[in-house]
Amino acid sequence: QGPSGGGGCEEKISVSVRLRPLNDKEMLRNDSPDWECINSTTIMYRSHLSISDRSMYPSAYSFDRVFGPECCTRQVYDQGAKEVAFSVVSGVNASVFAYGQTSSGKTYTMSGITHCTLVDIYDYIDKHKEREFILKFSAMEIYNESVRDLLSTDSSPLRLLDDPEKGTVVEKLTEETLRDWNHFKELLSVCEAQRQIGETALNEVSSRSHQILRLTVESTAREFFTNDKFSTLTATVNFIDLAGSERASQSLSAGTRLKEGCHINRSLLTLGTVIRKLSKGKTGHIPFRDSKLTRILQSSLGGNARTAIICTMSPARIHVEQSRNTLLFASCAK
Ligand code: ADP
Ligand code: MG
Repeated sequence: QGPSGGGGCEEKISVSVRLRPLNDKEMLRNDSPDWECINSTTIMYRSHLSISDRSMYPSAYSFDRVFGPECCTRQVYDQGAKEVAFSVVSGVNASVFAYGQTSSGKTYTMSGITHCTLVDIYDYIDKHKEREFILKFSAMEIYNESVRDLLSTDSSPLRLLDDPEKGTVVEKLTEETLRDWNHFKELLSVCEAQRQIGETALNEVSSRSHQILRLTVESTAREFFTNDKFSTLTATVNFIDLAGSERASQSLSAGTRLKEGCHINRSLLTLGTVIRKLSKGKTGHIPFRDSKLTRILQSSLGGNARTAIICTMSPARIHVEQSRNTLLFASCAK
């Protein structure tokens, strides 16, 4: 039994770290990689730390998995996200997050993971003819605590409603039933186009906004095979490409209280608090209702839901401060 004395699911949140390769800009600056994955679970700071730095910061951090620059997204998906994302076909809600500073590889990683999940789900459907599957897809963006539908050209903010049965629902959010793989790809390009419209209207939108792609899988046993108990299963998996983590750490690292300001992202800060409490197995008050992101994800976080967090980081020296903050977040989520 876990610390909370049973009742809830004590499953830990799966936390991995992905270190991307140095990019061209960093190479041109002659930046050397400061971080190295020394085995499949430990990442190490390997640069010349001053003595005082060495006592202030740990140099090695361990997680469920760490992925070095040589790892491809398939590997990251297989070992860091698949088990969680795939639980959706067995009727268990799930969330997969990419967390990290801007340009650390969140979008690169999350779009690859979403792609791999869909490939595997279609493969699974092919192999399980005894059930009939329906896949539904929706997509939204949260910017400044305002929710926008990424599958609709109407960009007016969507309201969140409390449904006694379903919990928080996003009013009027478009939900498309997927016809096939090509239809999924088409919808992804609609999202991309919608995101870019926001991008030109406001600077830096992608570093400040959260994108949630949501897939609902419904399956029903075909008559011939019916076995009452599991005849219908429904669950949702969310793929969340978070705002750049510098939006949270600027206020956190200064040790200041939450205050108004363009750098502070309420959803990101609240998510941090919620994840920390869930990972400690706390059963008391969890502040899901303090932000739009955590309200929307409430039924896919905690309880029986499965969660995977992939923290992305740059190996470059100039990013060491942000990389440490990312590892700190990752350590608290374990
Ligand atoms: P973020 O979404 O965190 O701001 P991106 O995913 O846009 O960052 O990544 C920034 C750049 O780095 C992109 O050009 C992306 O293609 C590249 N990149 C990120 N991660 C990797 C990786 N693991 N391997 C190769 N290129 C990567
Ligand atoms: Mg991005």
